[in-house]
Amino acid sequence: MPRYAPSIRHALLSAAVAIAIVAGGPLQTTARDNTDQKWKAYPNCCPTINRYIRAWFSGSFPSTAFKDRVTDGASRWNNVGRDFKFVTTGSSSNHQMVIDYKDLLWPNGDAWAIETNVKFLGGGEIQSASISFNSTPGGSSWYTGTGTPGATQGDVTSIATHEWGHAVALKHSQYSADEMWPYINPGQIKDLLTLHDKDGIKWLYPVAP
Ligand SMILES: [Zn+2]
Repeated sequence: MPRYAPSIRHALLSAAVAIAIVAGGPLQTTARDNTDQKWKAYPNCCPTINRYIRAWFSGSFPSTAFKDRVTDGASRWNNVGRDFKFVTTGSSSNHQMVIDYKDLLWPNGDAWAIETNVKFLGGGEIQSASISFNSTPGGSSWYTGTGTPGATQGDVTSIATHEWGHAVALKHSQYSADEMWPYINPGQIKDLLTLHDKDGIKWLYPVAP
């Protein structure tokens, strides 16, 4: 077991509870500290990977760039090389995850984004989940570029990376450098997975076959 795994493995929340990444505010939710929950494997389902997690962008987004940055966040986790892969799909009927952009209401109204609606199969394996990005993130706006966000802008790629981390079943980290640290400020970039972040998914998932 990786040294840090107990502190960061797992994650998910009951359907009614969301994990939020907030700008300096209190952590609004309690991560369920259950063990070993992860996406169900479907052996031989797909080329080279047993867990294809299809994500569908539902509704309207501010721009194509916004969706591209969300996809960039998923790629960071895919690139670790474990037995899962987030892919996007144009199908509204054959997906495991829904990604949307909407006005998050209380108690998540001041969050950048949440990962929610996690549903489990009988064995506790994850069946589906959602990520929502807040269309009204406090006094901030969204940065959809690949450079440096402005002082009042939330970096979509960084925040999406955090939420995909929840989606792959990680809870919050106690180390501020980690993607899974629960806070990020406007203007801040977190562009690398740390050792802790990677150890979390290495603990949960086998190496990609
Ligand atoms: Zn979080």
